[in-house]
Amino acid sequence: MSEPTVNIEEFLRGEGFDSDEALHEARVVLERHKLTNARKQAFVAAKLPRARALLASSLLRACDGCRPQAPAGRPVWVADGRRRVAVGPQHCEICSGSNNRRAAARCIDALRRRGIQHLLVVGGTPVQQHDLKGLLADATVEVRFVDGTQASHSTKQAELNKRWAELVVVWAPTPLRHSVSDKYTEDPYAGLKVVSVPRRGIEALCDEVVRALR
Ligand SMILES: [Zn+2]
Repeated sequence: MSEPTVNIEEFLRGEGFDSDEALHEARVVLERHKLTNARKQAFVAAKLPRARALLASSLLRACDGCRPQAPAGRPVWVADGRRRVAVGPQHCEICSGSNNRRAAARCIDALRRRGIQHLLVVGGTPVQQHDLKGLLADATVEVRFVDGTQASHSTKQAELNKRWAELVVVWAPTPLRHSVSDKYTEDPYAGLKVVSVPRRGIEALCDEVVRALR
């Protein structure tokens, strides 16, 4: 009885390699590791787990929005040694087609470059805070939130927060009392960066942080 086989191109498309470049690079990986050769269109299904592992460790599927601009014709490598290949946003490993996720990835990168590990966000709705926390969960940065609706935010508490944080983000258009935000904007510490975000939304917040850290 012959072993079940799988069409290689269909397999690769199913794995999210949806552009000519991505298909080509994925095929190169499989050939380099002798899972197939240039003449073959199919391989035995038993090779799938090894093929998936090799592709995951060799290539990073990234959409145009997540791909750094690189000089044309030069291969683009990411820090972990994987080569970036262009795919549609829905197959992008960085953003999965989500603007918020893409912005958060840029923000995490900017925070990491500056060595910022303590981020204080003043304001935001509970849902926004929950979502932002989720998007930054894999990062080395710790996020704390200050409820902008509280009637009394003590100067003492603000002092403690300012001492803890390396970056303060004041999320202005969200529910936020001046009596709370003023404690962060009017009397900042030397060396403590305070960024005001004039727009609602997680993408706006992340973009503003990236801009402030440039
Ligand atoms: Zn992307």
